[in-house]
Amino acid sequence: MSRIDPAGRARRPSRASGGFPRLRACGGVRHLLFVLGDQLNARAAPLRRLDATGDAVLMLEVAGESRHVPSHKQRTALFLSAMRHFALELVRRGLRVHYVPLDDPSNTQSLDSELRRAVDELGPEQLHLVHPGEWRVMRLVEHWRRDLTIPIILHDDDHFLLQPAEFADWAAGRRRLVLEHFYRMMRRRHGILIRDDGEPEGGRWNYDADNRRPYRDGPPPASPIRFEPDAVTRDIIHLVSERLPDLPGRLDQFSWPVTRRAALRALRDFVTHRLPTFGPYQDAMVAGQPFLFHSLLSPALNLKLLDPREVIDAALVAWRHGRAPLQSVEGFIRQVLGWREFIRGVYWHAGPEYAAMNGLQQHGRLPEFYWTGRTDARCLKLCLEQVLDHGYGHHIQRLMVTGNFALIAGVHPRHISDWYLGMYVDAVDWVTLPNTLGMVMHADGGLVGTKPYAAGGRYIDKMSDYCRGCLFDPTQRTGPRACPFTTFYWDFLERNQRRLARNPRMSVVLQSLRRMREAEIDAIRAAARATRARMGIGPIEGGS
Ligand code: SF4
Repeated sequence: MSRIDPAGRARRPSRASGGFPRLRACGGVRHLLFVLGDQLNARAAPLRRLDATGDAVLMLEVAGESRHVPSHKQRTALFLSAMRHFALELVRRGLRVHYVPLDDPSNTQSLDSELRRAVDELGPEQLHLVHPGEWRVMRLVEHWRRDLTIPIILHDDDHFLLQPAEFADWAAGRRRLVLEHFYRMMRRRHGILIRDDGEPEGGRWNYDADNRRPYRDGPPPASPIRFEPDAVTRDIIHLVSERLPDLPGRLDQFSWPVTRRAALRALRDFVTHRLPTFGPYQDAMVAGQPFLFHSLLSPALNLKLLDPREVIDAALVAWRHGRAPLQSVEGFIRQVLGWREFIRGVYWHAGPEYAAMNGLQQHGRLPEFYWTGRTDARCLKLCLEQVLDHGYGHHIQRLMVTGNFALIAGVHPRHISDWYLGMYVDAVDWVTLPNTLGMVMHADGGLVGTKPYAAGGRYIDKMSDYCRGCLFDPTQRTGPRACPFTTFYWDFLERNQRRLARNPRMSVVLQSLRRMREAEIDAIRAAARATRARMGIGPIEGGS
């Protein structure tokens, strides 16, 4: 076995794949820090405390992590490339790294067995981990605690501004967990956009009402900076194409930042060129403009290449210097400081049973076109092709097109949630599950969203240019040109009206439903049934 010395020189140079060196830490390890693929935080406290001579870092590439739900090729490549760059950076810093690559002939491709094998080989006195990002891995940690004979020390993830126990304190005694209350608490706690008198800057907490402009005559979007794959990333792209050809999505447009340095450039690019216009057009959708004014920072944030504090600070500096308006800066900070931290808090607070919730009792299948983009519905086709090309969609495409469709068509929440977890480059379970099950599918009984975000074709027509050139008409509920969103929207309201009647935010639309004639409702039901059958969704009721 070769060994990397503290200066980063391989004593016996060898290659794992392409240009990536073989990184092995032989025995004599005191503290072994296991770094997961979404924990690439060079400033994490447990990493800073490591001793370069006696301790080591363990990193594992295992195909099982890309297969437990089918993971987009770009998502897989992003994680692996970022992991390899991170390992090389640690070696440059003088740390010992034990790295098991995907194409190591002895790799069992299972996180559990590779961790156990590494512990056997290295014989550390203690195993350290940062709090993982999913219950599945947390359960593995519990198994390791039972089975391994060494102490396992779990550290807080200091990337986040709030720890799960602090969220639980905030949530204790509340009947509902309301984002707006959480967000205001976080603003006050961290003194962000708060005046000396304790009130919000600009006199308002929320600029949502100003931030819902359709694009129409908006300014030309500034294309985001591209990061051409370097040798390490090119090797990974080759490896994923060769070893995991059955994974969904395309790799030829891969241009995500895979290092901290590149992620910082992406942050500067966003703040300079897109943040000023981000606010007003954050809900707009435009054909041929997959990124519009969005930050594209969520992959780097969720891999922990970027710290949320520095992202928030960069937006605040732009506002203080008059380079970005308050409505854009507040809207962006709300997503990072408010929504992102809130969602993580809900994930750990709700427990592992959250994943099985299905409050609206929907059991339909996810249509095949979610994996191919082959559908006549132009909005879905454009959003799905974009996901296949880039592993990316912005929040309104996710919530109001791909998500909304699954909700109103009656798809099982777990089917669409697994699709989101696999298909987006920024997806990690803590963020995907509450966003999908809670916000998109309203499957958690209203824990995350105060109402279902259901909408028909008219909403999509208002917020996008997708309906122009579509075979369907967004105003038609039934008939040969009926828009599937519009048909399913009214069918959704009709079949859930008893449940939704208790929600005051649904009263206006339910009144419209009650004004419909019985014959019209029967026609909608029949059209929805036929469309579901044509799309392979199957019945909503019963087994999944
Ligand atoms: Fe989508 Fe309906 Fe508009 Fe077609 S008409 S793009 S299916 S919302």
